[in-house]
Amino acid sequence: MKRILLIGTGGTIASDVTQTGLAPELNTRQLLSYIPGVADVCEVDSLQLLSLDSTDMAPEHWLMMTRCIREHFDRYDGFVITHGTDTMAYTAAALSYLIQGSGKPIILTGAQKPIGFDSTDSKTNLLDALRCASEDLPGVSIVFNGQVILGTRARKTRSKSFQAFSSINYPLLGVLHDGKLLRYIRQPSLERPIFYDNLNTRVSLMKLVPGASREQADFLLERSDALIIESFGVGGLPSAGGFYECLEKWMDEGKLVVLTTQVANEGSDVGVYHVGYHLKSNLRVMEAYDMSTEAVVAKMMWILGQTRERQEVERLFYTPVASDILWKE
Ligand code: ASP
Repeated sequence: MKRILLIGTGGTIASDVTQTGLAPELNTRQLLSYIPGVADVCEVDSLQLLSLDSTDMAPEHWLMMTRCIREHFDRYDGFVITHGTDTMAYTAAALSYLIQGSGKPIILTGAQKPIGFDSTDSKTNLLDALRCASEDLPGVSIVFNGQVILGTRARKTRSKSFQAFSSINYPLLGVLHDGKLLRYIRQPSLERPIFYDNLNTRVSLMKLVPGASREQADFLLERSDALIIESFGVGGLPSAGGFYECLEKWMDEGKLVVLTTQVANEGSDVGVYHVGYHLKSNLRVMEAYDMSTEAVVAKMMWILGQTRERQEVERLFYTPVASDILWKE
């Protein structure tokens, strides 16, 4: 039987009703007591790393999870992290960069309803996650509502229903029916994973609104090493408002800019329209193509944790990690 380490970090799955709303109060042992059937699936050890609503999750916590898995890597066949759903897609992306090429499954799961509620998705998700962690499913993924989503491709797309996550621009890795995994895709892995222990958190994200001008970009670029701009459609910036000059000024000073899109599916193609063309040809703004915004944020933090040299940043950005980018020119 496979040995799995269950790592608790909080979230709705571990929440209880308090006078001030749901709060993560249950530990991993208590979670396991709700799924007695686990004894037929795998041997589980449990560890309580954090007890947070994932709204409070920060890059330092991604590094804590990475260290925890690194420390225990040789002793277990797979890992399950229980986590709040709100920022789970960011954590899944971050762990995909911090732990590369793992041959062992690293599964994130959580729930939309607490495990103690009569109607809950917690028990199914937790048991499914432990099943997947016992299978040949290398790398970081999210197991939720019977679906297995690659860690670099997940996004929370529903705030209340059990079908909380979607896979962005990439097929599901597999599905679960009645506790059986049907695996469609197996991610490649290395003999030993590569662990990273550094992130540069000076990365900002700005969502464009019609009529926006450069002030917000100026503010963020002054305080960050990289700015990700979620623009419209396949990508571009308003001709008025001084954006081009703003980016030119800050990029001359060594800041990095990535253009992505607010549209959930099909990604960017910045060179198509006049409003985007010069950003790439003259300014060397990078573009996200089919990467999710969550993955772009985490990837930039990971890259800038290693280098600030523009050419190397570009090389790393466009080099696929855990199938995060496929459509680049
Ligand atoms: N606010 C909760 C969290 O992200 C929501 C959830 O887990 O579903 O921790």
